[in-house]
Amino acid sequence: MALNLIMLGPPGAGKGTQAERLARARGIPKISTGDMLREAVQSGTEIGQQARVVMNRGELVSDAVMIGIMRERLDRADARPGFVLDGFPRTVAQAAALDGIVTGRDPLLVVDIEVPEAELVRRLSTRLICSDCGANAAGEDTVCGRCKGRLVQRADDNDDVVRERLKVYHRESAPLVAYYRVRPTFRSINGAQPADRVFDDLAATVEAAVASAAKPGERR
Ligand SMILES: [Zn+2]
Repeated sequence: MALNLIMLGPPGAGKGTQAERLARARGIPKISTGDMLREAVQSGTEIGQQARVVMNRGELVSDAVMIGIMRERLDRADARPGFVLDGFPRTVAQAAALDGIVTGRDPLLVVDIEVPEAELVRRLSTRLICSDCGANAAGEDTVCGRCKGRLVQRADDNDDVVRERLKVYHRESAPLVAYYRVRPTFRSINGAQPADRVFDDLAATVEAAVASAAKPGERR
């Protein structure tokens, strides 16, 4: 059975890193709207310019744009054996559109990474990024671990923008989590642990969920 996984979780939960690691372990693509939007911004296309203005305000690009990007991406051959979605869907409208896109494929598995708000604010206000290669770094690092480049605070991580991002996330994710929570393929894991522990929980949760979805009579 294909692993069609949606990762949910607030900014600062480590969702992107965990999604990347799981995708690599399973040999399926990690599909991140963040990466796709950054590519568009760097390429300087019209949609990229619009996205940059919106993201610099701490807001999100429109559903229609994201859904169009996703439909095209999930149609590619490498996503047939499965995929890990990071950052999509972000709204109920996107989730409903995604259900349409994946009609006829194996069921969507949804994993929500939960982290208390105070921990998120602490993590986000100390997050650094390499000015040369774009790698993320921890608050205690002084140079990039990948290329020794200079570390700077992420442009979108000043205090006001951190709070706005969390506010937007909570406002939009509550109905999204409610949309998925009723499904037999919804799981939540504890993201307030060391990254390796979170990954172990994620991998075990995915294994168990795939096994139970493959045997419909034993769904919980
Ligand atoms: Zn670097």
